[in-house]
Amino acid sequence: MSSRRRWAATLAAAVLTAGLLTHPGISAAAPAADPVVDLATDEAALVRFRLPDEAMFQELVAEGADIATRPRSAPGQVLADIVVTGAQLAALTARGAQAVDLIQTESDGARRFAESRRTALAADTLQFLQAYWWTSGGRTFLQTQVATSASDDPDVEITVTWTTADGTSGSYPLARFEDSGEYQYHVALPQRLPAQPVQVSATSSLGGQSRVITPAAWPGTTPPAQPSGYQKDFIDAYLTPTDIRARIKRLARQYRGLVDVIDLPNRTQGYRRTAVAYLGDPAVAAVVVESVRFGDQGMNGVQARTVDPGRPNRRLGATYRDRVLTISLATDPAGKVISTTDEVAALITARFPQRFRAFAEDGSAGLPMPVAGPVRLDDGLQGAEVPQRPWTVQALRIGAVRDGSKMGVLTYSQEHAREWATPLVTLEFAERLLANYATDRTTRELLNAVEVFVIPTVNPDGANYTFHDYNFQRKNLVNHCTGAARDPRLRNSWGVDVNRNYAVGSLFDGYVGGSANCLSGTYSGTAKLSEAESRNVVALAEAHPNIKYSLNVHSYGGYFMWSPGAYKAAGRVTLPRPSIDESKYFLDSARRIVGAIAAGRGTVTWPAYTGPVADVLYSAAGNSADHLYYDLGIIAWNFEVGNDRWNDATQRWEGMGFQPPFEEAHAESQEYADGLIELIRIARDRAEAAR
Ligand SMILES: [Zn+2]
Repeated sequence: MSSRRRWAATLAAAVLTAGLLTHPGISAAAPAADPVVDLATDEAALVRFRLPDEAMFQELVAEGADIATRPRSAPGQVLADIVVTGAQLAALTARGAQAVDLIQTESDGARRFAESRRTALAADTLQFLQAYWWTSGGRTFLQTQVATSASDDPDVEITVTWTTADGTSGSYPLARFEDSGEYQYHVALPQRLPAQPVQVSATSSLGGQSRVITPAAWPGTTPPAQPSGYQKDFIDAYLTPTDIRARIKRLARQYRGLVDVIDLPNRTQGYRRTAVAYLGDPAVAAVVVESVRFGDQGMNGVQARTVDPGRPNRRLGATYRDRVLTISLATDPAGKVISTTDEVAALITARFPQRFRAFAEDGSAGLPMPVAGPVRLDDGLQGAEVPQRPWTVQALRIGAVRDGSKMGVLTYSQEHAREWATPLVTLEFAERLLANYATDRTTRELLNAVEVFVIPTVNPDGANYTFHDYNFQRKNLVNHCTGAARDPRLRNSWGVDVNRNYAVGSLFDGYVGGSANCLSGTYSGTAKLSEAESRNVVALAEAHPNIKYSLNVHSYGGYFMWSPGAYKAAGRVTLPRPSIDESKYFLDSARRIVGAIAAGRGTVTWPAYTGPVADVLYSAAGNSADHLYYDLGIIAWNFEVGNDRWNDATQRWEGMGFQPPFEEAHAESQEYADGLIELIRIARDRAEAAR
């Protein structure tokens, strides 16, 4: 028997003995006392009693009373909180205990549980993560991010209401943003407002209500004014890698005392491809014949053909003479040609492994090989004036003192070939520093304090391809595909995504955002740093340990980002977050740079687009900034130049693209060069603070 049941039996006996329970189910309170507690006979409740003395408390303990606690809240009195039924209450009262407080009844449990659930469902908690306003081109915008505590409920709708100083108000809905299956927050595009908002609040479809807050001005920073006579605008057209090389050469000659040119150690493949032809008709049956060497290495123009030997019982054979590959097809006893595409392909690869490889074109496997050709192998490259040899990627090293003793800043652009505006940004920036050194005191101070490294085009081979062959080429020109993926019809999908080929947080470490498929736009290569282009960036940073800042310039979309830039899919585990102090430094510095960009033509990088790559854009496994930050301790940032622009006519934000009309690209080069100048000031400030 439990002490509880024993106590109940004892009390029941006491009640019967005392004979006090004259009206069962009615009142059990002591008639003389204030009837604060009134229970039915078998109704249980938690009741606070005042006991006549300590002895009674000890008796109740000994009897096994269900004593919840013994409050000491009334000095000099003996209190006890006891779970009792109405009958037990009556018995205790008869023994001199006085019920002073009904704490909770039996039925309160279910009711309070239900209430708690109702409350939780009815009112989620809403919190503003961001609420910023700004003006651009005389127009005012507001952007907000709100998180709901009901994060698992995909149907929660959140509405933000704004109010301006004159009392005008309006509202707009936010959309739920999930990444990798994990709820992040609710957000909307920046909203056009009639004036500066002074208050915003959020409500949810569950009845949740945020606090009313005052939006902050974004970015809330203004760069120093450019002095009169400041020289700028050195960009008057898109620049090919050949143009960039010429510009670098000119700058080195013109500003001899301020700049060195660094030839980076890993030459690229060059604007080159193997020579290839379809032997046969791809619509019917064909073999792809490809040179092992590049087309420019004597293989463009080589011919291939199949011939009918014209006699019975001949074996399949091949000769290569006078730049003509001749395949003599096998015949049966009746003189009929009997070779298949696979047999022909296998023979070519086996007989001339140093010169050719071949495979049955997709869909042609096992089909009879036609008599075909001669066809000419060709690399297919259209850029006749582009030199076809390995390319030496170059960096400018700018500064009054270029010996590694000054704070170093690295900026690099065009990892992605098609992002034509990006080298315009870094070259405009470089030339401003050089051109203004002699005449502008501020520039002189900066270049006396800081060393600047600039790689205008990291991926010149891909860039050449975008100008002459396929303007959307993103990757480099190295083709790691094998087998049927080498079919020349797939030529615009070959190459390695340079900005997925670095060694930290990469595909090879299990991070999201790089692909193992050689035809993917985010193909990560065959291994970490398998590509000359990525090795060059790392080599430059490693060779100059004074580099403490970097900015990787991409397009487009108007982002300003830092690490972490990647996460693992399971649980969305990012690379380590910067410390709170460092995150604040990232954000404070970012606001300075965003403010500098905005000073040009009012282009404001959205607060929702300012932050860690993995949070504001996507996971980008093996990107260069993560490598520089985590492996080399560099404060590493990323631009996506080319912000969406507001169209008043359509009342919509419009994307700029990789190759906008030059007028737009030019404007991007100017405003983002302003941003890079601010980066130099930030580096200079850090250098001064460290002295
Ligand atoms: Zn890019």
